[in-house]
Amino acid sequence: MKMKIILPTILVAGLASFRALGFPEVTTNGVTGFQDTPMQPDGKWHVHDPARPQPPVVTPGHKFSEMAAPPSDAIVLFDGKDLSQWRDRDNGGPAPWKVEDGVAVSVKHDIVTTNQFGDVQLHLEYRDPDLTGRVGQDRGNSGVFLMGRFEIQVLDCYQSLTYADGTTGAIYGQHPPLVNACRPDGEWQTYDIIFNVPHFDANGKLVTPAYATVIFNGVVVQNHQAIRGDTNWRVPGNYSSTAMTGPLALQYHGNSVAFRNIWVRPIAVVNDP
Ligand code: MG
Repeated sequence: MKMKIILPTILVAGLASFRALGFPEVTTNGVTGFQDTPMQPDGKWHVHDPARPQPPVVTPGHKFSEMAAPPSDAIVLFDGKDLSQWRDRDNGGPAPWKVEDGVAVSVKHDIVTTNQFGDVQLHLEYRDPDLTGRVGQDRGNSGVFLMGRFEIQVLDCYQSLTYADGTTGAIYGQHPPLVNACRPDGEWQTYDIIFNVPHFDANGKLVTPAYATVIFNGVVVQNHQAIRGDTNWRVPGNYSSTAMTGPLALQYHGNSVAFRNIWVRPIAVVNDP
């Protein structure tokens, strides 16, 4: 008898708390995002603001760096055979992604490299699956995390809208890509990224931020863009650590995304005039 009363009470209470956890999405001009989030530091837009202007569409040229062979000094992170250069971000165990037909498919947990990196040139390729019925941030979402903390968004935004700072090629939640250069889902897309680590003084104060230059499908989408700190959902960037190296990471965001031909070159920064 008691259970008959308690169970519905628990169910109702659970449903109420679930709703309380939800954040109010706003749709503006067909773009769904948020406007209850903090303002970006420039004071113009909320984080994930659907009203922030969309990056103009650019149709990429043919191939660009697709299947680019790694230079002789590159560290090959995935050549189609195995994920021995990676581990499970959640538990440190073997990378739990599926390797088949020469590609690695995200199926569970983020994966991180076993090596730590600082300034790098990174090449990788990804392919979204058939995304019929999926919209916005649910269309083939993954991400490339530089130092494990700064996400370059992986998503299908081909003829699909989402908030500008979450578009493919965005420094997630901070800087939209300069243009939307997506190919349709099912096609291989290339990322060539040049990344510089942040620098801090002896007191841990930020001296120079991290920077990313991102070429997506042969098109510059981030041009030596300063990164405001660790990227996150619904919050502006904030540097959580003064570390100057970190692993590269690939995101599992509930979508199966295929990756191939991943290699990296540690690079020097020479700023002589
Ligand atoms: Mg992502």
